[in-house]
Amino acid sequence: MFPAISADKEQELIESLNHYCLANSIIIYPPNFQNYQPVNAPVTLFPTPISRGAFKQGEEVQTIFNELYARIVLEEEWLVKIIEELAGFDRDFTGKLYETYLKAKEIGIVQPLGLGIFRSDYMVNKTDNQIKQIEFNTVSVSFGGLSTKVGQLHKFLNDAGYYSNESKLFYKDEDLVVSDSIVKLAQGLYDGNFYYNKGTDNKKTIILVIVQENERNVFDQRLLEFELISKYGIKSKRVTMSDIHTKTFKKDNILYLKESNEEISVVYFRSGYSPNDFKSDKDWENRLFLETSYAIKAPNLLTQLSGAKKIQQILTNETILKEFLKDDEKISKLTKTFVKIYPLDGSELGKQAIRYAFEQPDKFVLKPQREGGGNNIYKSDIPNFLNSLPKDEWNGYILMELIYPEIVHNKIIRNDQVFNEPIISELGIFGTILFDSSTKQIITNNLSGSLLRSKFETSNEGGVAAGFGCVDSVVLC
Ligand code: ADP
Ligand code: MG
Repeated sequence: MFPAISADKEQELIESLNHYCLANSIIIYPPNFQNYQPVNAPVTLFPTPISRGAFKQGEEVQTIFNELYARIVLEEEWLVKIIEELAGFDRDFTGKLYETYLKAKEIGIVQPLGLGIFRSDYMVNKTDNQIKQIEFNTVSVSFGGLSTKVGQLHKFLNDAGYYSNESKLFYKDEDLVVSDSIVKLAQGLYDGNFYYNKGTDNKKTIILVIVQENERNVFDQRLLEFELISKYGIKSKRVTMSDIHTKTFKKDNILYLKESNEEISVVYFRSGYSPNDFKSDKDWENRLFLETSYAIKAPNLLTQLSGAKKIQQILTNETILKEFLKDDEKISKLTKTFVKIYPLDGSELGKQAIRYAFEQPDKFVLKPQREGGGNNIYKSDIPNFLNSLPKDEWNGYILMELIYPEIVHNKIIRNDQVFNEPIISELGIFGTILFDSSTKQIITNNLSGSLLRSKFETSNEGGVAAGFGCVDSVVLC
């Protein structure tokens, strides 16, 4: 599965890997950085094998998942009813997002077009090689930029002979996946600009990228912005949530950049997915200001809210899926990717779930309505955690069966350290979709590349920026 190379050769390989990363933007900022001092992003030494069938399955279901989530947003009423209830369990964030949506409704939501830039995450179940969905992300999906670059890194190391003691290549070129996510995600943003301009190629309107202060994963984002300007001639401007009112203005609902009077076609959120992204009431006002502008939001508030883990749990019910997708074949393709997810409410299923949570917690992960890593409760921690909460708060959580992927022995390179520990991998598939709430039509729907992230088998979570995971690439097997 992995090349066996001599210790000398491995030194040379790691040096080449580090050079390639620095030369090709496989970099992040360390904590407390200076602007001129990024470091290499943690990556694997080798690509990790994923079965061809599983990878294809992920690609095949992406446009169906895109469509499903677009339909949920288009059929507003159903989603709003669930979110309204959920808002009561998570007042600080889901509640605030929902409240902001209600205020926007009251003021008037003037842009009928919505842009979804999504990523569906899976692990490959080791017993049958089927992909099983971890979660569906509808806001601020990351690593589309670095993913392409890490695929290119592993291809370079193979092509240049670093994976082999002899002169022949270790991997067949056609088995190495180089994700086209930079190109495809930039195309998704371009589509937003194109349809904002009523189906014309207007290079004068620009993309507003909402970013976190002190963002460390800047280069992943910039790679998409560089593609936008070099391929389409479309400019982008980066602002933080708290700078919106000083840097932009609206005239007749149209959003403009103050410094240049340039019109903004798409607001692309790489921030705003966690309560920490809203430092004050002003930041929430700014979010509302954007929602009620004529710019297309990627995503708008309802699309962001459709990514709630509670929605994912409800959608594991086939009868409900049928309300949104009329096609049985599509539905069966989706349900094959589901593991059991339970509510923790007063229903029969909920009561069963509560028994599972206390009697066999080792088979489960408990998830609140949060994004961005570090929020879940795993296995034997579940009973104590639940006991520490008032029972009427349990309903804000979902209980999900754990997925068991193959454990492999790749190596992780982080700064100048080589970690030679068993790893597991999570496959992400990107997709973009543009839809129109005035006609309830889907305008574009695309598969937009892939991502492989790996982490030590012993760690529960795999956040790359958070520090316990790394970017990998796929070798098909
Ligand atoms: P977040 O919104 O914080 O990213 P996720 O649902 O993606 O939350 O969970 C975080 C991490 O926890 C995942 O990347 C994965 O490593 C692990 N995880 C989550 N659900 C499961 C599951 N059902 N089985 C195994 N691991 C899981
Ligand atoms: Mg996740």
